[in-house]
Amino acid sequence: MSEPLSDPIPLRGARPLKLVPRLKEQGYDRPQVAKRRAWVEEMTGCHLEEVGSFTISSDEMRGNIENPIGAVQMPVGVAGPLRVHGRYADGTFYVPLATTEGALVRSYERGMVAITRSGGAQVRVWIDENRVCPVFFFDDVAAAYDFAQLLPDHLDSIRAAAESTTRHGKLLRIECLPVGREVIVNFSYFTADAHGMNMIVKATDEACRWIREHLNGPTYYIFSGYNSEKRASGSLLAGGKGKKVTAGVRLRPEVIKAVLHTTPEGLVDMWHHTVLGHMQTGTIGYNGHYANGLTALFIATGQDVANVANSAVGITNFELLPSGEVYASVTLPSLTVATVGGGTRLGTSRECLEMLGCTGYGPEGAVKLAEITGATLLAGELSMGGAISSGEFVAAHESYGRNRPEEGS
Ligand code: NAP
Repeated sequence: MSEPLSDPIPLRGARPLKLVPRLKEQGYDRPQVAKRRAWVEEMTGCHLEEVGSFTISSDEMRGNIENPIGAVQMPVGVAGPLRVHGRYADGTFYVPLATTEGALVRSYERGMVAITRSGGAQVRVWIDENRVCPVFFFDDVAAAYDFAQLLPDHLDSIRAAAESTTRHGKLLRIECLPVGREVIVNFSYFTADAHGMNMIVKATDEACRWIREHLNGPTYYIFSGYNSEKRASGSLLAGGKGKKVTAGVRLRPEVIKAVLHTTPEGLVDMWHHTVLGHMQTGTIGYNGHYANGLTALFIATGQDVANVANSAVGITNFELLPSGEVYASVTLPSLTVATVGGGTRLGTSRECLEMLGCTGYGPEGAVKLAEITGATLLAGELSMGGAISSGEFVAAHESYGRNRPEEGS
């Protein structure tokens, strides 16, 4: 039933590998996807009925995945109402969250009610950029130093080379970071509504070729490890990888009691003690569970979920005010979200972005999604903080979040 297998890298004397068949046009139409799935069923003896039952267009998967055999499904719930006062997201939102962790949606919903009952969360985007950081190699420290001195004089030409590859990407600046006889160059870009890594890696590679051709030919690797794409690092706290977003709300004692089942003092005491735990373990920043809200929102809206690794670095702060209120805030220095490119055009992603009014460009695009994300994570921090403070954390998960298999099943 399948076409003959071909090993692209045959090793002499080695047995041929059973590679997934290469199908016509890379095999994205429904019959080709079904053919590949049938091959897997035959090879492994499994039944892929559920994986084969999907509604998103298989043709639209081109550019998102290779060797498609169907789609996996994730339950998606909704949490809200969430009142947001951002510069782009200004209104009440109902947020799609895709997860299999029971209690998660209810928890975010509770935090959103606390925020909305308090008049809403203010949200601001401070920095909006993404970076690629190649590394250039030199014979010695002096040559590396000379290169770093020379480079800024050529910014206009370097920018022209980089921007020749993209209509939307804008090179904002370059910055030299010496390490011994090497120089890491931080290329910072505005990427509009795209996540931008495909866009700016291509632009940076073009710029590096120009540098090699015109500035004495230093060799380079396009990645140095400095950019912290899909990795947590201390450098993320300063911003420069994605959008730096802050969200804050002033909570009255009545709301804290009625919705979060604790007191202002209890909430801040919880914060103080758990900060110490974070310090003890060497966490970068402080937060209760940014990764939960980020992952659920990213899956629902077609973001690259691996970017939770960098986006989940941040700082949550709870302060007791002289008025007896609590000021709660989150700071997300390196949030990576997009409304264009990547998985955002797949049918389910598009629908979930429509729920948030984030289907357009500019003010209706990635910055708006970033503000809603900031307010959503603030809600999650409040609910988690309330549950720990009141001692209700385990009970909430027992009510909503257990899926124990029956004995013997
Ligand atoms: P993409 O899907 O490759 O391309 C998005 C493109 O959409 C942009 O390059 C831009 O074309 C165009 N576009 C149209 N309207 C736009 C608007 N309003 N704002 C911005 N762009 C607009 O997406 P990407 O964001 O560059 O890359 C994201 C993907 O890269 C993710 O799936 C991620 O996993 C993957 N990734 C790649 C690397 C890598 O090293 N290549 C690393 C990590 C992740 P123009 O450029 O012509 O303007």
